[in-house]
Amino acid sequence: MKQIFILSLVVLAFAGCRKEEGVNLFTVSQDIEFGEQMAAEIAKDTVEYPLLSETKYPRVYAKLDSIRDVLLASGLFEYKDRFSWDVKVINKDVLNAFATPGGHIYFYTGLLKFMDNEAELAGILGHEMAHADLRHSTKQLTKAYGFSLMLSIVLGNDSASLAGIAKNLASGLASLKFSRDDEYMADEYSVKYLCKTSYDPKGITVFFQKMIDAQNSGTTITFLSTHPADADRIANVEKVWKENGSVIGNKYESQYAAFKTKLP
Ligand SMILES: [Zn+2]
Repeated sequence: MKQIFILSLVVLAFAGCRKEEGVNLFTVSQDIEFGEQMAAEIAKDTVEYPLLSETKYPRVYAKLDSIRDVLLASGLFEYKDRFSWDVKVINKDVLNAFATPGGHIYFYTGLLKFMDNEAELAGILGHEMAHADLRHSTKQLTKAYGFSLMLSIVLGNDSASLAGIAKNLASGLASLKFSRDDEYMADEYSVKYLCKTSYDPKGITVFFQKMIDAQNSGTTITFLSTHPADADRIANVEKVWKENGSVIGNKYESQYAAFKTKLP
């Protein structure tokens, strides 16, 4: 009986893959549970993740929340109503952003200051939200921790092991590397979301080019260690943009400049 259950679970896991390669043994509920555990670990680790106070910086959070809401209204999210979609800011001079399973999104102040307009921010936010909505993190975890370990955790509902992994990952979360296909897919979805808004859908390419330029002049870009940017990736965004009607949007530079003055 148990074997039949395992088999059907594996079949379900394969059937659950959208378009792309790779197996995800997690259920959507486990994505949510796991994401909550990771968010709790992050909140506890105030040295590694000094979260910017929501009560002291309400305008920073209001801006991020409003862009998130605009993206969620695109109608393109599978888990719009099930995932948390909370956006938090880590007060550190690091050029990175990341998402946990279940849609907890984190931006470093270093990255927010590096950007020059709201379309860039919307593009990166869309990219991270796509990783969560397409469930790339738990797919990567299945790969990183091995099929059999994940299977035993999932089958046994082994929340102790899951909590252990959540704790482990909280320290190296930002370094969870996605496959190239997942990166391209997250870029594509970012463009598709932004095409449904008033933002320039190619905000993310402007950002990639700036990152490449900065790295070439010697700046350490953490984002690039997990999100390698190159000419191919920019060309892919260009292609998706044309396929989606070559929508011209706004960059909102002055609004973004005002936003940056609210950061610590
Ligand atoms: Zn990515």
